[in-house]
Amino acid sequence: MTAAATSTETPPVLLQLNDVSKQFAARVGLRKAAVSAVDGVSLTLRRGDTLGVVGESGCGKSTLARLVVGLVQCDSGDVVFDGRTYRAGRRRTRRDLRDMQMVFQDPHSALNPRATIGEAIAFPLRTQGVSRAETEARVDEVLARVGLHGNYRSHYPHQLSGGQRQRVNIARALALKPKLVVLDESVSALDKSVQAQILDLLLELQVEYGLSYLFISHDLNVVEYMSDRVAVMYLGHVVEECSAEELYRAPLHPYSQVLLESIPKLDPRERGGPSALTDGEMPSPLDPPSGCRFRTRCPFAMDVCATTRPPLVETRPGHLVACHLHPVPESATAGDPIPGEQ
Ligand code: SF4
Repeated sequence: MTAAATSTETPPVLLQLNDVSKQFAARVGLRKAAVSAVDGVSLTLRRGDTLGVVGESGCGKSTLARLVVGLVQCDSGDVVFDGRTYRAGRRRTRRDLRDMQMVFQDPHSALNPRATIGEAIAFPLRTQGVSRAETEARVDEVLARVGLHGNYRSHYPHQLSGGQRQRVNIARALALKPKLVVLDESVSALDKSVQAQILDLLLELQVEYGLSYLFISHDLNVVEYMSDRVAVMYLGHVVEECSAEELYRAPLHPYSQVLLESIPKLDPRERGGPSALTDGEMPSPLDPPSGCRFRTRCPFAMDVCATTRPPLVETRPGHLVACHLHPVPESATAGDPIPGEQ
């Protein structure tokens, strides 16, 4: 649990996504098509908090991470970060890039093999115009803070282990003293023991530097360990969002339920392993199901699920779910019928 979670005051919002969508062009045979990677996603991250984003491969979570840091531009909607609004197509300034950093999945390919560790960490500082003396001091500080001896400054990436390389990537992200760090499957490529060390390091750094994390992962155990709130994504939609504690104790959306049931357990008598989810493949994002995108795999699907997209509504305080099984409070707007499908 983060420092923000233990405070009685609600921290201010740092990052807000408002109805953000992104499509990519694709080819199916001779035909041009559009893949809807992220479709109408709205999320909020408060200062000092960690928002976990989970879902299967292809659900759009990595595209979401790239939209937040500006590596790809959204087609519609806007990203509000630290009071600054980025509408569709607005590019980030140098100052914006200083305040939000990203740590990628593969610690090796994220580093230039021809640059020393010292040069890799110093690079973003130099591009931001930080003086040489301050850059040197900052490199020493962050290297020490991620548990690497100053001697590593002159090493090259191939001379380090996978865990050490990811520590370097974290150090590089911290060097500019960002407010937000987007962690995209940042521990997925590491051994379990190294993974645990890196996760604990991230939690320590979060408190020390007052960081907010957007934590993207397919590993539900890791997301539970790290997150204050969790958003569950399926085929570009957020289908449930609530506190991590509530999601893992009482998930409401059928997709969240089968995801959690499929977490492997050490005790074979407990839940885990094959589930209803294994009965079907995720549909192609080139031709997603109408209405609720989960309906082709949902054991509770009804007629309405094929015609009307369920809106993401707050069914309990702080607990949002997009499913026709859960009553929509009177104040909420009903889901819009899909043109041509009613
Ligand atoms: Fe299942 Fe319908 Fe709920 Fe979708 S809206 S998860 S198909 S019950």
